[in-house]
Amino acid sequence: MNENRRLRWGLIGASNIAKTYMISAINAQPDSEVAGVFSSNPQRGERYAKENGIPKHYSALQQLLADPEIDIVYVSTTNEHHKSQTIAAAKAGKHVHCEKPIALSVSDAEEMVRACAKAGVVLGTNHHLRSKPAHRKVRQLVEDGAIGKVLAVRSYFAVYLPEQSQGWRTTKPEAGAGVVLDITVHIADTLRFVLGDEVEEVVAITSQQGMAEGPIEDAVMGVMHFRNGTLAQFHDAFTVKHALTGLELHGTEGSLYAEDVMTQVPKGRVYLRRDHKIDEIPLGESENHYVHLVRQFNQAVKGGGRPFASGEDGLKSLAIAAAVLESARTGRKVAVGDSLSLGYTKA
Ligand code: NDP
Repeated sequence: MNENRRLRWGLIGASNIAKTYMISAINAQPDSEVAGVFSSNPQRGERYAKENGIPKHYSALQQLLADPEIDIVYVSTTNEHHKSQTIAAAKAGKHVHCEKPIALSVSDAEEMVRACAKAGVVLGTNHHLRSKPAHRKVRQLVEDGAIGKVLAVRSYFAVYLPEQSQGWRTTKPEAGAGVVLDITVHIADTLRFVLGDEVEEVVAITSQQGMAEGPIEDAVMGVMHFRNGTLAQFHDAFTVKHALTGLELHGTEGSLYAEDVMTQVPKGRVYLRRDHKIDEIPLGESENHYVHLVRQFNQAVKGGGRPFASGEDGLKSLAIAAAVLESARTGRKVAVGDSLSLGYTKA
């Protein structure tokens, strides 16, 4: 693709995440803009386009996909639509940036990865936490050996789900409701990223703490066992009002503490503790990380590298979340790799 070409994004889904972060992140790039939006409700689509300065709105997905002006689609509908919309977009020759969880099952995600590869389009997953300066710094420190061999991780992304985000997340199993597909999938991806390693097996227990309906879990704790031996403890919840989020990595030569980092805004602190001395590590960036992530996606579309989180990453992180659900359901330890049949690149 021509390096100077301005990329036009079409939104599939008149969603809150697009309105809050992604439209501004796409329009912040010198080489891209949001050109259109599809909503299943034409009135809502029209209103959404007007309110968000989007030139076109489409009342049928096929209209958006047939529009030669659209280069990339951003799929941010509820989770049960991700598969069919991604595959339709790939068949229409559009690059796809898809929300997480990339799909509702590992086999669906595999179909999506295959369809995009076959069509020769880029598939990315919006695992935005990877692109946060704090997580990039932690990954770099781990790679540089700052804490030696990583033995243990503790991660905590237990928050209170705001009322406006409850809805389908707490009531609709068919849309992939529940904290595991909403939050644990992000944690799985972030841990894979900072450790540069893959999860072999998981054990987990879920709970219904009063926010989600019926059997839908709104809290989970568990452990992921990585290939190189790292044990990673996780606590994710929709129900915890006052806790900070964070990540601790404990290695043979030191420990890293990333505080207040599982957020959508550019904040958080990273500390390195070695020999009883603790130092704050400068992060040196204040740009919103969704902007950073879209920049890298645009570059991937133009032929320069890969998206921050690829379709394969979405698939592998989903496979871990699926194993967590299976472990909670059966009360057993579950191997992650068994259900995966594609060949993969490094996390
Ligand atoms: P929303 O509930 O805001 O939007 C999802 C869909 O719901 C929209 O596509 C829209 O359908 C429909 N919808 C929106 N408003 C209304 C309404 N007033 N009445 C009826 N239907 C409505 O979802 P989110 O933005 O919270 O999440 C969307 C996706 O993004 C999910 O996959 C979620 O997991 C993911 N997400 C990712 C985040 C990240 O940082 N990576 C953060 C938050 C969410 P239609 O388009 O047909 O109009």
